[in-house]
Amino acid sequence: MRKIIILFGPPGIGKGTVGTSLNKDIKMPLVSVGNLLREGVKNQSVIGKKAENYMTKGELVPDDLVLELLKERIMQQDASTGFVLDGFPRNHQQVVMLEKIFKDGDICFVLNLEGSDKIIIERLSNRRICEKCGAIYHLINIPPKKSGICDICEGKLIQRVDDTPQVIKKRLDVFKNDTKPILDFYKKKGCLYSVFAEGKLSETLEQIYKIIN
Ligand code: ADP
Ligand code: ZN
Repeated sequence: MRKIIILFGPPGIGKGTVGTSLNKDIKMPLVSVGNLLREGVKNQSVIGKKAENYMTKGELVPDDLVLELLKERIMQQDASTGFVLDGFPRNHQQVVMLEKIFKDGDICFVLNLEGSDKIIIERLSNRRICEKCGAIYHLINIPPKKSGICDICEGKLIQRVDDTPQVIKKRLDVFKNDTKPILDFYKKKGCLYSVFAEGKLSETLEQIYKIIN
């Protein structure tokens, strides 16, 4: 039996931050497709090279590439009792792919992190990430101890190339057109839970622990 927690929600709502906290607090491996892709781009892996152009434009990377990364990651030993998924599935085809990955007895929670466009844009424009380890900061809500420097590894904090107003708009469009409609499927399946995500991180986590425990 595996416990699979899917973090669902628009870009910038805080899936990565929530996922990192779950990973620390309840020791579940965090499988972030966005991070896996960004690592691939940084190392210029075969998949990374193919994905880069789509990511810079804010478009979805082709499903087969993403699936390959995902499968390889969840086959690892640490994911055998469950994992937290951030950034997958993002369209109908990926839902179908994920259904094939599920085994009998797996329990799945789809956590729908909800918030307004206003909060999303505010969070994305204040987001900085560590160039070296990928840690996520927010200039106002979760600032680093030293300006521009990662608390964890002292790497340089940078703005993601896709966190520009034009690309943010594109990512929100993709979310509304391709990703949001898949909620219907999980609603029918009976594993969809709503989480109000405009408040503090601790408030978001509190709701989540009530659902998954
Ligand atoms: P966000 O959810 O904040 O937009 P992510 O880090 O999850 O950021 O994803 C960044 C980019 O990586 C996306 O804009 C997309 O290009 C690509 N990506 C991530 N997950 C997927 C996926 N499941 N399918 C296709 N592309 C993806
Ligand atoms: Zn770092």
